[in-house]
Amino acid sequence: MSTINAHQLPKAQESLADYVIRQREALGLSRLALAAQASIHKQSLGKIERGQTQTLNRRTLSSLSLALQVPIDYLEAVTRGQAGTLGPSLKFCPQCWQAGTAPDPIWTDARSQYCFICGTGLQDSCGACGEPLHSLTFRFCPHCGQPYKGAK
Ligand SMILES: [Zn+2]
Ligand SMILES: [Zn+2]
Repeated sequence: MSTINAHQLPKAQESLADYVIRQREALGLSRLALAAQASIHKQSLGKIERGQTQTLNRRTLSSLSLALQVPIDYLEAVTRGQAGTLGPSLKFCPQCWQAGTAPDPIWTDARSQYCFICGTGLQDSCGACGEPLHSLTFRFCPHCGQPYKGAK
């Protein structure tokens, strides 16, 4: 299993077509090369990339996720038009989180709204500029340079 990079996370509102193209280009693959690696017909892949296919069967999903080296959950989310639900699930408690460490999985659960330890509302974006969090291994917002923790 490859490690997850921020660029693999679907952007909010990103379509399946845009997501597949973006991941394919990040790997430096041509459409033909990706179709071959995922064992799907190049015309089927063409349809996906032109936005003419929105529903993928299980087999296509799993081979495409392997070939693109992205989690199948990400692909499923973009096919359902729920890419935005993945990004904001990166949350932390501004009181309890230790900057630079992985957030507790209980915070990042999509259903969590408040910290299970202290009850503070969880934060899913930079407190200074509002840019959504992309990685909590950063101590500072890459957008505005403010520390995530303590920025109000
Ligand atoms: Zn807390
Ligand atoms: Zn910021």
